[in-house]
Amino acid sequence: MPELPEVEALRRFLDRRCLGLTVDRAQVVAFACLKTAEIPVSALGGCEVGRVERRGKFLGVCVGEAGGDRFVGGDPSERAGGGVGAGVGGQPGGGTGGGQFVDGPVDEGVDIAEGVGSQTWLVFHLARAGWLRWHDTMPTAPARPGRGPLAFRLSFTDGSGFDLTEAGTRQRLAVYLVRELEEVPGVASLGPDPLGQLFTRESLDSILEQAGRAQIKGVLRDQHVLAGVGNAYSDEVLWAAGLSPFAAADRLTDEQRAVLYAALQGTLRDAIDRADGVAAAGLKAEKKAGLNVHGRTGEACPRCGTTIAEVSFADSSLQYCPGCQTGGRVLADRRLSRLLK
Ligand SMILES: [Zn+2]
Repeated sequence: MPELPEVEALRRFLDRRCLGLTVDRAQVVAFACLKTAEIPVSALGGCEVGRVERRGKFLGVCVGEAGGDRFVGGDPSERAGGGVGAGVGGQPGGGTGGGQFVDGPVDEGVDIAEGVGSQTWLVFHLARAGWLRWHDTMPTAPARPGRGPLAFRLSFTDGSGFDLTEAGTRQRLAVYLVRELEEVPGVASLGPDPLGQLFTRESLDSILEQAGRAQIKGVLRDQHVLAGVGNAYSDEVLWAAGLSPFAAADRLTDEQRAVLYAALQGTLRDAIDRADGVAAAGLKAEKKAGLNVHGRTGEACPRCGTTIAEVSFADSSLQYCPGCQTGGRVLADRRLSRLLK
């Protein structure tokens, strides 16, 4: 599943590839993926891409009527080469309150001058098995529903475009057409972005205090609490911080919190740096190669050499290093212990 670093890399990729391009056609191939009904997909035709934004693991492509100067203040060149902060934006207060993510100073005033009705956001969430496939030249064969992984297709008038695909049958990939990003329920309820300009040590402290005795692993990957971190990067962050995934959030010492804050930002920034510039097609392999513990059960910890262990749940598993994270203790496998009861 793509998480913050991969989605951010995809955002930068799309920003470089399709800013200023005109949509030729949008097609919903797997009808279950489209979660909104108010705006028809045909409305995207003839519109020009003005911005590409990320909110947590959601990506939004903003299109407006062709003509360019209707996007006021949204100078694409400012964002294309900017650092993480420029692309990620900030969030109000830096705490957990509200949960709403709004643009930082960089993005202020980018609404289209003639009114909000003339812009449309194509928002998508790739979920567990979804992916984006870019084509310099779109396939000419018509997309047929019910065959293969293709769920949604967007073509530009210069012949390029991208497909949203989903492997398997779970159909959790979600596409929305809205006037404002926050109209997507999953976006409106997001916690702060850990790489946002206003996400401080105090922001993390307040998250940990509000989480109480909750296990830190679950806190980090709860999208309402923190935006963009999922199963893989929560394992990586906790490994980097040397913390047990089952540590109670409000029991961490001041030093542990400081280490966790640094590990959270460092792990995500490093992953973005590795992924940035990698074409969309190569991002999955890049993610896997960069992981130290997640998905590496039975391998040696790259830091201490201890064999990486795993705890399995109904539909997921976590990995950790007993040597670095739990003082040598191997955590009970919940699934196994339940069977033994
Ligand atoms: Zn280790």
